[in-house]
Amino acid sequence: MKPLVAIVGRPNVGKSTLFNRLIRRRAALVEDVPGVTRDRHYADASWGDRTFTVIDTGGFVPGDQDVLLKEVREQAQLAVEECDVILFVTDGRAGLTAADEAVGALLRKSGKPVLVVANKLDSPIGTVQALSAEFFRLGLGEVFPLSAEHGLGIENLAGTLLDKLPAKK
Ligand code: GDP
Ligand code: MG
Repeated sequence: MKPLVAIVGRPNVGKSTLFNRLIRRRAALVEDVPGVTRDRHYADASWGDRTFTVIDTGGFVPGDQDVLLKEVREQAQLAVEECDVILFVTDGRAGLTAADEAVGALLRKSGKPVLVVANKLDSPIGTVQALSAEFFRLGLGEVFPLSAEHGLGIENLAGTLLDKLPAKK
């Protein structure tokens, strides 16, 4: 079986955009409407000399904040149980939210390798501002600035992701 990598985070932060970039396909999964990704999507991605399966999570019904948070947490919990590495995507421009902190706490307890991604940082200037102490407060280590839409930061993120995959059998 190939290593499993899950992409988690609250709606509209750019999970599906990152998923498409990792699998190098423009699947019609990205919409302006939050929560448009129904279900979970699986696809294989190849970077360097490794192939792994990426899971895009979503399927949240927009509405009640409490229901939404519960859904995001459930997806994160599933990811923790079945995946080797978790990409935890946040909105680098919006900053940390309560939902991010709740998911972050759950991921921290899991002990699984987690890479925190601060997405939507489309310009270097925005990146410097967004990567203030805020995201480090999650207690999950390094924060990876990314523009999933434009591809900025993807090589750096993918490189670290490869390092975190279980050794090849
Ligand atoms: P998801 O709900 O987390 O899967 O988010 P999507 O991938 O569907 O993206 C939600 C919205 O954010 C869409 O309008 C995307 O075009 C936009 N988006 C995603 N990545 C970026 C990015 O790097 N920069 C900017 N400016 N917008 C982005
Ligand atoms: Mg999505």
